[in-house]
Amino acid sequence: MQVSTPPFSAAALEALNDRFESASPHEIVAWAVETFGEGLAVGASFGGASGMAILHMVATLKPDVHVFVLDTSYLFEETHETMRRAVPALGLRDVTVYRPALSHEEQATRYGAALWMRDPDRCCELRKIEPNRRALAGRTAWVSGLRRDQSEGRADVAVVSWNERFEVVKVNPLANWNEKQTWQYVLENQVPYNPLLDRGYSSIGCYNCTLPGVQGRAGRWQGFEKDECGLHT
Ligand code: SF4
Repeated sequence: MQVSTPPFSAAALEALNDRFESASPHEIVAWAVETFGEGLAVGASFGGASGMAILHMVATLKPDVHVFVLDTSYLFEETHETMRRAVPALGLRDVTVYRPALSHEEQATRYGAALWMRDPDRCCELRKIEPNRRALAGRTAWVSGLRRDQSEGRADVAVVSWNERFEVVKVNPLANWNEKQTWQYVLENQVPYNPLLDRGYSSIGCYNCTLPGVQGRAGRWQGFEKDECGLHT
């Protein structure tokens, strides 16, 4: 297997992160578009406000950016509906949906029913990580909407880093923004967002593993010591 080499040295990454600590998300997005061009990909969940803000920022500069969506088979209908509204509204021209290799039924036959209730890490590996690997194959950079205020585990997230697992440069332009700034951007720019966010959900993933009425990412994977699917760790 060919292993990709990071395009930046550790010192160069440190210098970029120093520079971007005081930069606006727009400046960081502009740098990513300029630096990676056709190698850039944006992961879209059509769940949270941050992801929608990022899509809007990137689409403004590069509407033909490659956008990928992981459809685990367990997305809320509201999430599908948000995607149907947002893609034309943002003028996105290159959106690809990636699905797991196993259907819901095939997974149940091979691993037993309701794998997410017994081994959510395995379920996320099958339904998110592996499709994410396919989505990023051949790309050089991945933009996502992670913010440091979303959870303890994200408190130290870098603006730019080398992602070993997927062998791409990971860019988090909103790392320094908070929830209020994100919503202000979404509302001021009339960015479409998932209506579940107005119904008590603050973090939206698969319906099997998402509960309303809980702040931040605590509504995900209730009953497990888990608040990340593994895409961002
Ligand atoms: S979030 Fe839940 S249902 Fe979705 S892939 Fe992970 S464990 Fe499976």
